[in-house]
Amino acid sequence: MPIKEQSRPPRPRLIANILLAVSGLFLLVNLFLPNLFGSQTPGVPYSLFIHQVQEGEVSRVSVGQNEIRYQIKAENGQPGPIFATTPIFDLELPKLLEEKGVEFAAAPPPKNSWFTTLLGWVIPPLIFVAIWQFFISRSGGGGGPQGVLSIGKSKAKVYVEGESAKITFKDVAGVEEAKTELVEIVDFLKTPARFTDIGARIPKGVLLVGPPGTGKTLLAKAVAGEAGVPFFSISGSEFVELFVGVGSSRVRDLFEQAKKQAPCIIFIDELDAIGKSRSSNGFYGGNDEREQTLNQLLTEMDGFAAGGATVIVLAATNRPETLDPALLRPGRFDRQVLVDRPDLSGREEILKIHSQKVKLGTDVDLKAIATRTPGFAGADLANLVNEAALLAARNRRETIAQEDFAEAVERVVAGLEKKSRVLNEVEKKIVAYHEVGHALVGSLMSGSGRVEKISIIPRGMAALGYTLQLPTEDRFLMNETELRGQIATLLGGRSAEEIVFGSITTGAANDLQRATDLAERMVTTYGMSKVLGPLAYQQGQQAMFLGNAPNPRRNVSEDTAKAIDSEVKEIVDVAHEQALAILRQNRDLLEAIATQLLETEVIEGEKLHSLLSQVQALTV
Ligand code: ADP
Ligand code: MG
Ligand code: ZN
Repeated sequence: MPIKEQSRPPRPRLIANILLAVSGLFLLVNLFLPNLFGSQTPGVPYSLFIHQVQEGEVSRVSVGQNEIRYQIKAENGQPGPIFATTPIFDLELPKLLEEKGVEFAAAPPPKNSWFTTLLGWVIPPLIFVAIWQFFISRSGGGGGPQGVLSIGKSKAKVYVEGESAKITFKDVAGVEEAKTELVEIVDFLKTPARFTDIGARIPKGVLLVGPPGTGKTLLAKAVAGEAGVPFFSISGSEFVELFVGVGSSRVRDLFEQAKKQAPCIIFIDELDAIGKSRSSNGFYGGNDEREQTLNQLLTEMDGFAAGGATVIVLAATNRPETLDPALLRPGRFDRQVLVDRPDLSGREEILKIHSQKVKLGTDVDLKAIATRTPGFAGADLANLVNEAALLAARNRRETIAQEDFAEAVERVVAGLEKKSRVLNEVEKKIVAYHEVGHALVGSLMSGSGRVEKISIIPRGMAALGYTLQLPTEDRFLMNETELRGQIATLLGGRSAEEIVFGSITTGAANDLQRATDLAERMVTTYGMSKVLGPLAYQQGQQAMFLGNAPNPRRNVSEDTAKAIDSEVKEIVDVAHEQALAILRQNRDLLEAIATQLLETEVIEGEKLHSLLSQVQALTV
């Protein structure tokens, strides 16, 4: 069902163009006419004119503002030729002319003055009107090109069925629950009668929630591809404009267009750009523009049910906790679909989809790659396949090999290998012991995965060396012991430096940061402290996406704040002691592996596993 483009009648545009052309022509004529006519009389330098006056050759002079014309005295009964010169500011001139007996007068007003005056009065308004008409005519039309001044009109793009690169649910993997929900939405749109006959109310708003890169935008496009109805797509940031009131008029416009095309889908990407909680930005007195836009959106969503038009609003955000509660109320975005990071089999499926576009070697094992990439979102995996392809091309291979994928994983996990950053011998030694420290402690700790590789080749922004730990399985829950183990592993590097060199370098800053964050989350988020009990001391729903969110604390009393601090310190201290004890107990092994690492720079695979299997657990 193709959409008729709602283009305006062509007349205003035609008129505007004619006006533009005419006024342009007038402008040209105005600019060049004087020059054209003025070039009839030969021009001479002012000095020559003065010379001729002094020599008594000049009979008559007409002094104009921009031009002096003069006639040479008659000779043999023939009237002398006329010349023109450009005047300079010369107060002596009248005196000189009088002295020489030259007849002189001010020039008569220019012949075409009525014409110039007319131009001066008529042209500017004409140009103004023409430009105005031009933009008005351009900003019209539904899906047509948008003009600079198309302020109020919505910028929504309209997808039409049968578009060349159609995205369907087949292009999305690893988010099965979300897909099931959205298939239902597609059913609503295709056969609304089936649902309304029983008296069911078709949901109005569906909110896709999930971390960045998990395929929310992709899913929305797939819905558009499957549903076979018009699909209006716009990003939340496009509503937010410099001018107050523009956003809300855009919302109104968008819904107006959509209602005409119903049944259809409106997709608002990055909803948080307009849907931020109205109370949360009260700090600077609020943001009027965004508030108005949001209010308009709420009004529109409430409004269209009455008309009976099937318009489903799909929206996506990766920050649901910032959304205004009014948006999530029943009757608005009452359905929330979680689009989460894919699990093992999901990752394999996504890798399959993206590796269809590249040439895979026979040894490539997508399942093994999926195993090594927990926590990767769909976008990361797409990027991974591309990185592997780039590496294969650089290595002049015909097809992508498994080792290209292995290198690509490391690139994504640890940043780019930096051969150019050269460590001196002492630094290299410190880094080697540091990394082996992580590996030794890590190999004894449950829950932090298996140590797969130690390297002292600098990588990424700050890492001078790194220890790669890869989980053997997907983990969704961690217990307290495992978290403590992770903290101890993080402190293993620094502890090794302490034991071997008796001093500490700046290299462990990042480890300490992560260890402290983790300890703080244990206390404030996971309720793992006996002293503080199972209370959540952090604010908001950051726990929803375990990981990188900052950790703003709830308002707590001074005593509680102190208690939290001391508990966090306690956890880190205990882990530190544990790491030190493990390394002291395995001092010889630490030396042996570090020496070897200094030689080879990288230890990995079976060799590493057999070395680390010699680690002795603490004998308490
Ligand atoms: P989001 O909108 O959630 O931030 P996108 O939908 O823009 O993420 O995803 C970016 C790209 O990553 C997609 O174009 C696609 O190539 C890839 N991608 C993400 N998630 C998936 C998935 N579940 N299946 C297949 N490809 C995916
Ligand atoms: Mg997106
Ligand atoms: Zn470290």
